[in-house]
Parts: sequence; structure tokens; C-alpha cells
Amino acid sequence: MHYMPIAKRSTGLVLFPAFDWCISPTHPEREERLLYTKDQLIEEGLEDVHNIHFYNPELAEYHDIDRVHFCVPSSRNLLTESHLISAGGAIRAARSVMNKEVERAFAVVRPPGHHAMQTVFGDRGFCIVNIEAIMVEYIRKHYGVRKIAIVDTDCHHGDGTQDIFWNDPDTLFISVHQDGRTLYPGSGFVHEAGGPSAPGYTINLPLPPSTSEEGFDMAMERVILPLLEEFQPEIIINSAGQDNHYTDPITNMNFTAQGYARLNRMLNPHICVLEGGYSIEGALPYTNLGIILAMADMDTSNVREPDYDPANFVQPPEMNAHIEEVCRQARQVFDDRERMRREQAAKEVVRERKSIFYDTTGFGVEETKSYHLCRECPGYMELTGYGLGTHVHGYSIPFNSCPACQQKARDAFARAEKKSDTVTALQDRARDIYETK
Ligand SMILES: [Zn+2]
Ligand SMILES: [Zn+2]
Repeated sequence: MHYMPIAKRSTGLVLFPAFDWCISPTHPEREERLLYTKDQLIEEGLEDVHNIHFYNPELAEYHDIDRVHFCVPSSRNLLTESHLISAGGAIRAARSVMNKEVERAFAVVRPPGHHAMQTVFGDRGFCIVNIEAIMVEYIRKHYGVRKIAIVDTDCHHGDGTQDIFWNDPDTLFISVHQDGRTLYPGSGFVHEAGGPSAPGYTINLPLPPSTSEEGFDMAMERVILPLLEEFQPEIIINSAGQDNHYTDPITNMNFTAQGYARLNRMLNPHICVLEGGYSIEGALPYTNLGIILAMADMDTSNVREPDYDPANFVQPPEMNAHIEEVCRQARQVFDDRERMRREQAAKEVVRERKSIFYDTTGFGVEETKSYHLCRECPGYMELTGYGLGTHVHGYSIPFNSCPACQQKARDAFARAEKKSDTVTALQDRARDIYETK
């Protein structure tokens, strides 16, 4: 046993390796992804640590999925049991914290979710449904929490989470990731700052390839921590992707288990949800352990990869200068949020078009979101989309909408024509109802 067997902070763990689900046997997001992690946690004796509690995941309900997504043709049609358990694992982690069974919790589950957008026609970036978003709206529905911060530290831009919370000023979404010019999904630039009702509440920190501990420390100290301090969320969630690791086979960063542990200590999230991380033997067992020990407020100094050498992780000065500039610009976006909101205030409807590519099977969806703005609330959203021969026509009522906007959206849905080639849906988060026709 390398560690003192008492956690200073009680921590819950939900482990769901999904041994029977994968996209294909040789895919990086495959069955054995969490096997070594599981072995490592057992080897380190975490099951015997006082104040660390293991929970079994539950099945999320289709209702929990529909509260967040418009699935085409339907959530029942697109999801496997593994997806319901992965989302249910995140929900179980959230409940353990919200019910005060533990102070912190980590859902070490797969398949991941942060590339899943509000509309879902299939899977993209190894994700079908967005498990953090499902968890966030579950927390809001069941515990009445309003202000939530999601900090996505996966190496890939959290484009799905960004899409879902784009127009929500009560969710501060911060994604720190490898620059989209050099990695999937090719987005996540500083100017992507949020919808017309929530400008400045989406913050992107694109870091150059080979960014190491120094760069992540800088992003934390200069942007993420000060913004959280100002935003004052009731809950902080970490989309804890671990593919920034120097051994990850599908990315180009230079981050370490020590770096992940320190990041977690600084961020101090209430709930972590595993996202990516494809270095199954070289990284995940160490990064996951580092995160768990940091959450439990235990010693992390011994968490090191077998080949760890600090000399390999020094950043050149020009890289530091570049990251400083990214931090300055991101900070500016947040500081400008009131001014940007005032610029939008006079408008009634703002339309945004998007082409969404589903990379796993290779098809595109064209989508238009119309934000019906309001001075009292974020307003309601109407969307139309087309892909794979099917249309979607949806209305989404946010949880924080005013009664007048709720009624307008319900009336518009009632008037919408029923068509055989179209999924016409109302996602009413205020009443917690999902209806289709
Ligand atoms: Zn990733
Ligand atoms: Zn309103």
C-alpha cells in the first residue's frame, strides 16, 4: 500500500467499463479501455481506503435523455443499454454528492459523451449522448440547482457540450483543449463565445500541440480559476478527459499524471465525469488514480508513470507567450459579456446555421437554430435540421425561461404541422415534458 488508507475528503466512485460495447474491436474507444485502470485502483488498495465509496451505476431513463437531446428518430432507437448505464453512472455520481453521501464523486464510465450535440442523428467523436449534459439537467430538475460550471479538460474541444449550453447564461462552459486547427473536431476557438442570450458564458482555450504542465497551469491560474470565482457556480463539474497525456495515441499534447492531479486539486470539482483518454496502459491507470487521490485530498506525489522524467516537459518561451495571449483573449471574452448582451438585446430572433458531421459513419446534418429572445429570460429556441432522409423540427424551452416564453413555445409546437418525414418535438424543461408528433 503506497497511500495512507484514509481519504480526507469523502469521495464516491462509479466504475463502468462497459465490457460488451464498442464501435469496433480495434477502435480506440473499445472494451478494454478501463480494464487497466480498474486493476490499478484495486492494486493501490482504493477499495480499502476509508471514505472512498464505490457505487454501482444505474440506468438513465429515456426521459433523462430527452430532457437534453432531440434524438432522430428517437432515443429508444439510437441508444444501447451501455449508453443508458454510462449516463446513469454520471447521474449516480451526481446523486451521491447532491444527497451528501460523499463530498466529491467521479464517474469513471464509458462510452463518453462530450461530442454529442443537442440534436442527435447518430454518433460523432465516439459519443451518442452527452452524459455531462444529461447529468446537469438531472441535477437541475431534481435538486433545483441553477448556476453550474462545466470545465472540460479533454484534449478535444467539447463541441457537443458547448452546443447544448450555448444560449444558457446559468451554465459557464469552459473548454481547454488542443487547438482545433490541429485536431478533431476542428472547433473551439476563442471567438466561439455563446449564443445571443449568453455571450461570454462559453469560454474556449485552444492550446498549441505539445502543451505541458506549465501551459495547463497558466490556463487554470489566469482564466479558469478567476472566472469561476467571479461566476460563483453552485456546482463545478469536470469533463475529465485524459487524452492530453503524452502517451495518448490520437492527440499531440505533453501532459502528465502529476499535471492532471494538480489540475484537479486547483479546480476542486464536485463531480468528475471521464471523457476521452486512449492510452489504455500508459496513461489512464495513472491519470485516473491521480484525479481520484486529488479529489479525496490524499497525497498524489507518488503518482507517476514508469517512464516519467520532468526534463521532457519543459515548454519553449514562444509557446508560453502564445498561451499567455490565448488566456488574455479568453479573459476578454468573459469581461465583455455584458456589453455583448446589450448589443443583442434589441433583436427579436437570432438565427444560427450549422453543418454537423457525423464522423463514425460519415454523413452530414444541416441545422438552423432560431433563438427567440426575451428581456426577462434566455428565450426559447426553435430548430430545424435535416440528415439521413429525416427532418427534425424542435422547440426547446429552457429551465430558466419566463412563463410568457414557455407559452409561446408551446403554442408554436401546437401549431406546427405533423409530417411523416419529420420528427416534430417539444422539449419542455420547465414542465419536464418531452412530446413528439
Ligand atoms: Zn478526447
Ligand atoms: Zn422570456
